[in-house]
Amino acid sequence: MSADESPLPESLPDESAVANTVTDKPLSPSVIAQFVRHDRCPRYLKQKWADDPEPDGREWREAFQLVNVAQLGYGQEFEARQLESLAANATKVIGPDGEDSTQASVPDIDYDDTWAASSEDRSDQLQTAAEDAASLPTDTDTPPYILCYQAPLGGQVGNFNLWGEVDCLVFAPKSATETVDELDLPTPATTVDSPHGSGTEQLATALASNHPQDTTGGTSIVARVLEIKSGKKRKPAHHVQGVIYSSLLEQTLSTDVTPTCRIEASILTQPMAELSDDPYHPLAVPTFQLPEWECYTEPLLAAGGHVETVLQGDLEDLPFAIDRVCNNCEFQEACATYAVENPTTPASLALLGYPPAVQGRLQDAGVTSIRNLSELLPPQRNTDPTEEPPTLDLPAEQQRDLEEILPEPIHETVLHAQALRSEIDPKYPDGSDESPA
Ligand code: SF4
Repeated sequence: MSADESPLPESLPDESAVANTVTDKPLSPSVIAQFVRHDRCPRYLKQKWADDPEPDGREWREAFQLVNVAQLGYGQEFEARQLESLAANATKVIGPDGEDSTQASVPDIDYDDTWAASSEDRSDQLQTAAEDAASLPTDTDTPPYILCYQAPLGGQVGNFNLWGEVDCLVFAPKSATETVDELDLPTPATTVDSPHGSGTEQLATALASNHPQDTTGGTSIVARVLEIKSGKKRKPAHHVQGVIYSSLLEQTLSTDVTPTCRIEASILTQPMAELSDDPYHPLAVPTFQLPEWECYTEPLLAAGGHVETVLQGDLEDLPFAIDRVCNNCEFQEACATYAVENPTTPASLALLGYPPAVQGRLQDAGVTSIRNLSELLPPQRNTDPTEEPPTLDLPAEQQRDLEEILPEPIHETVLHAQALRSEIDPKYPDGSDESPA
């Protein structure tokens, strides 16, 4: 269970927010991020969050575990080590109550304060942290800051209530960002990532400053959303998570807040953490361009957007593909089982690895299942690549459609389907029944 999948808050954090249209519980930013990570796989989102019986409907015990437990453990330990490093120079640290710090996955930190039980009191704690940051000294060599670990945040983004625990929030006087820039602290060689693709320039040369320009004037503190990821690169899913938490933080701090606050977001990855043996300053972690990634994130959560469309659909009708996007997905075994258990269903086409759009076009062309596809040729045994390819006898229109849809010659796809079917259908090829495909 990741940080922001912990038990739901006792009340929705923003009671003025409309109820989610398709689920009465808040969505988790980390689930939205995983949805992006798995190439927006609808089955992932539906199984993860909708009140659908499928994940509980069978003996799925192993199927619904995280596939790569070792990787999960490494990620948690990496996060714990970074937290200990960040806390070492913090003026004040607020964190969760009751954690077992003897475990390697839990940071060994003495908190100055722990999160209150109610969302209203937690909101007050964040307001106070912002106010305290405004009065931190500005004449020190290393700028002071307040660190909030696993800070609970909730509110509305697009058409959905969201609730989760951001890895870190850092509050500091605005002048701290200028001091950090002047210190010229090391930053990793990294790409300037944008929703439109990543450049190859080093961040230091691509951006005049490590911080966004202050266009509002009068800003007196900086609030930094800092997500910690054990990977080597920042990925779109990380940015989406950062955008959502930035929006939730803005909502939390927006009620008559003084001092005025500029919200930044950054993702701490492994290369940054390995730059130095000494604790690094959290404001030295490169920021990313929030407005650009907001434009990428907003359509996902908008009314009628991708998330809403998926959650309103029935699980069995959602197209999916078993391919590289399934790597380390907790539903891998369940989806593979669903795809192989009946070679006459459209779900069996997921085994081909083609994107759902291609599967839809195949169905439009009259190919509705692995069995159907495998029967476009008699069973081919002992195919030799040096032999002439088998000849297909298809209606002209279907042949033309399949040639347009498939990235390879039709007979190769059919042979692939036959091989897949022979693995999942014990009656094939010798004892195939004659019922319609
Ligand atoms: S295993 Fe693949 S198809 Fe199934 S939910 Fe995960 S990403 Fe989607």
